[in-house]
Amino acid sequence: MSDPRQRRLAALVHGLTTAHVDGLLVTSLANVRYLTGFSGSSALLLVTPRDVVLITDFRYQTQVAEEVGDFARVGIEPQSLWIGLWQHLGQLPHVKVVGFESAHLLHRDFQRLLENGTRWQWRPTVDLVETLRERKDENEVALIEAAAKVATTALEKTLRQVRAGMTELEVAGVLEKALRDEGSEGFPFPSIVASGPRAALPHARSSPRRIETGDFLLIDFGAEVHGYCADVTRTVVVGRATGEQREIYEVVRGANELASQRVHAGLSGRDADALARDYIQSRGYGELFGHSLGHGVGLEVHEAPRLARTAEGALAEGAVVTIEPGIYRPGWGGVRIEDDVVLEASGPRILTQFTRELIELT
Ligand code: ZN
Ligand code: ZN
Repeated sequence: MSDPRQRRLAALVHGLTTAHVDGLLVTSLANVRYLTGFSGSSALLLVTPRDVVLITDFRYQTQVAEEVGDFARVGIEPQSLWIGLWQHLGQLPHVKVVGFESAHLLHRDFQRLLENGTRWQWRPTVDLVETLRERKDENEVALIEAAAKVATTALEKTLRQVRAGMTELEVAGVLEKALRDEGSEGFPFPSIVASGPRAALPHARSSPRRIETGDFLLIDFGAEVHGYCADVTRTVVVGRATGEQREIYEVVRGANELASQRVHAGLSGRDADALARDYIQSRGYGELFGHSLGHGVGLEVHEAPRLARTAEGALAEGAVVTIEPGIYRPGWGGVRIEDDVVLEASGPRILTQFTRELIELT
């Protein structure tokens, strides 16, 4: 199989032409990793139609050689990455207009461009690499699927150990141990374990609250394999569900299943969002679904595209997106069910294989 980095580079060079820049300074570490394979936490990357220059520091000397090989010209900078950048840029006489990533360049670093980079013209660019990242190749989908398997296996192990009387933090600890045991490299975001009325907080932090019999227990967490993330939510009842809990759960499940089956490449993010939103609205709970339906997932747990009322763009074939409708009743509790779905040419395929039936932990 050919090196995917060559394809990505060619596509980015095409984007440079469209953006009317001779080169791009890449400061997003996820974008650096996507383009070069380098996973370190300190890097400046310069891409032109003829050059790929990666500047990092002494700590990554061995790692950068292993991960990047001869794909890029690598500079190891003992003092400041920026000194290295000026030196390398100075050796590229054909480069006059340089783009920077407006979403990722710190203002402090922008000042450096103005003060020390006066030989070049600097132009803001938007999502040149992020747009490429939306469309996953087979290998990327396989890694997200592997992360999804780690996540769902860890969830299964965790649910077997949950009891009333445990705190949310204890459950998060059991879950994160299981994620590590299953091979997760890290936690893409702090795991959310929210019980009882706290399940109504869509982005709760796990707390010392003790879980009570009859509580909803909402668990939203991620796993990471070779840099690629999965993002999963399940909501269970600790004990027997009441009629009201079951009713709300079934509305969310219906919205999740409908959207997971009908979302497809070519649909706008807004129409994808509407698949679930219209359904929840038709059941009378529209006011209680206050966030958007989903987001892309890949090297970052939240990336393009967005599935939201304000997202006009069409979903790309090969995108992996979350489908995560929810209903939240303040003071009472809430339900969210989140799956990761790849938009293949033949239709959507769910990567997070885990039951969506209501689980009662008795
Ligand atoms: Zn999530
Ligand atoms: Zn999510």
